[in-house]
Formats: sequence, C-alpha cells, structure tokens
Amino acid sequence: MNAWPGVIEHYRPWMRLAEGVEPVTLLEGNTPLIPLPRQAAELGASAFYVKYEALNPSGSFKDRGMTAAISQAVHDGAKAVICASTGNTAASAAAYAARAGLRCIVLVPRGKVAAGKLGGAIAHAAEVIQVEGSFDQALEMVSTLAAERAIALVNSVNPFRLEGQKTAAFEICDALGRAPDWLALPVGNAGNITAYWMGFTEYHSRLGSGLPRILGVQAEGAAPLVLGHPVDKPETVATAIRIGRPARGEQALQAARESSGRIIAVPDEAILQAQQALAGEGLWVEPASAAGLAGLQREVAAGRLSLAGSTIVCVCTGHGLKDPDIVTTRAAKPRVIPVEMDSLRDLVDR
Ligand SMILES: *Cc1c(COP(=O)(O)O)cnc(C)c1O
Repeated sequence: MNAWPGVIEHYRPWMRLAEGVEPVTLLEGNTPLIPLPRQAAELGASAFYVKYEALNPSGSFKDRGMTAAISQAVHDGAKAVICASTGNTAASAAAYAARAGLRCIVLVPRGKVAAGKLGGAIAHAAEVIQVEGSFDQALEMVSTLAAERAIALVNSVNPFRLEGQKTAAFEICDALGRAPDWLALPVGNAGNITAYWMGFTEYHSRLGSGLPRILGVQAEGAAPLVLGHPVDKPETVATAIRIGRPARGEQALQAARESSGRIIAVPDEAILQAQQALAGEGLWVEPASAAGLAGLQREVAAGRLSLAGSTIVCVCTGHGLKDPDIVTTRAAKPRVIPVEMDSLRDLVDR
C-alpha cells in the first residue's frame, strides 16, 4: 500500500483547486476516528467516536485548510501570506508558509493566545504582530491589507481553506462506510462547520453516503450565533472559539438548519469538564476541542436529544499541548520529595 500523500493528493478529484496546483503538504489528514465506548454508554448512543484532529502536523485541523490555501497561493504567484488568528491558524499558516518558502504575517489578539500556538508561529519564523483588540478586529485589519497588497489572505474566508477542511467529512464517511447520525463540533469563526457540511453534502450527492445532523457548539461568553447578534467582547477559556463576529456565521446557521441540527452554547465549566472526561479516555485536547462533547452531554442531560441507536462523531479540533496552562494552573501542584524511599512510600501508600 502506498503511504498517505496528504489531503490534496488523496482527495484531488473532490477539491476545487486550479488545475496544476502543486501540493504544499506536511501529509496532513488521515487522522484517527477513535471509538470511546464508555462515552457512548453515558450518552445512550450505540457508537461514539472522536475525530482526533489534534494529530495533524501543527496540532489542529487548520492544516487541512492550510495545505489547500497555501498551495493555491503559491500557484497564484503569492510571495507572502497573512492571517488573523486566535492561535492555531497562525501556527498552521506559519508551518505551511515555511514549507513553501513564503513570508508569513500573523495578527493575534494581544495576551489572548495560548502558549503552544504562539510558540508554533514563532518557531516557524512567522512575523507575529499582537493587536490591542479582538480577533474580529484583527480579521478586519488583515482583510483590508490583503485587498491593498499582493498578500494572500489565508483565513477561512479564503474558499480554498474550506476545500481542504471538508476532507475531514470524507475521511469520516470512508472510515464508517457512511455519514454518522450526529456530528458535534465547536464553532468559532464558523469555517469548519461550513466545510464539514459541504463535505458531507458533496459526498452524499455522488456516493449516497447519508447526511449527519450537526450540533455546533459555542461558548456561552462567545455565542453570537445563539444570541442572534455579534458579541463585542467575547470571553471564554476556549480561546480558539473566542470570536464575536463569525465570518461564516450565516453558513453555519444554514448548515445547522439544513441538517436538522442546531447551534447551542455551553458554559466554560461544562467545556472544562468535557476536556477532563476526554483526558480520562486518554485524549488530551485543548478546551475548544471539548465543546462538542460538552454540547452533546448538555443536550442529552436536558432531555433535548435522544441518541438511542445513533452513531455519533465528535470532532476534537486541537491538541491539549497547545494550552497546557489551562490544566496545570487548575490542578494541585505535583508533590516534591527528597531522594528518600520512605517519603516515596508514604506518598504512594496514603
Ligand atoms: C479554529 C478552531 C476552532 C474553530 O473553528 P472555526 O472554523 O473558526 O469555527 C475550534 N477549535 C480549534 C482547536 C481551532 O483551532
């Protein structure tokens, strides 16, 4: 069997890229669909899987979209790319721009980006600019600049990002033999929910793979799609979805509506508990990534969702290593002992 070639090479006939685009790839995609039988039992579902997007090269699903956006940018003759980011887009753009030899400029909200994400962008030598404002304001700034200069905008308003990201839906259908009954995922700028719905509908129209109902989950402090209006000062521990003016908000609502699903909001505490539940299964994800499970748990507990007989896929979008402080600052500090066997025995036998 041939080795996995990355999402463009593998799904090329399904992707709207210009002819002759040479993939700039880090062999992203082909992430595992991990069964969690205990969670299935707790939710009353017949099967529960995590699509573990943390295992992409830069640690989040953003790599699927970035391989497409950067490949197309190179094909179009771009010498530089720019994005606004809550962190993972910056780390991913920096990695793929480095691979392609492009200049990469990223704007992030000052002081609101998790260490593992900022570190990634800096490691790949992106030019990181902190803005004294929100992600939404940073996105407005980079959009304006990209329209003025020969710099490619690689946020998910770039259609090629969605072309890459929709391949996750294809992989889920390929692994299960059909679409799941429900797909749960976090919603921030709403590119991913839009891409998944595109992917499922395109596969279904040609292969009859079925369509999932989609549960999009926002954090209560950053829930414009649930409130029905933008949020000026979004706040949540789930920094990847700390967005008050989702660029693809309309399409997200449409995906929820057309799939007979919905978009809901959950409190930060529920997100952190779901993060702990996933860690208890051996999967460490960043807080935003746990929003999908938090949303499912909440709907089931409130009696608004019955999952009997259903197959559920929960998308875990990014790795826990991105934001280690969230767990270390909340937990008790590890004990310190001298090099003394009795101290060790005392602690272990307590
Ligand atoms: C970007 C991101 C999201 C949100 O995705 P959108 O496409 O902005 O809705 C969720 N989780 C993680 C880890 C992310 O990096």
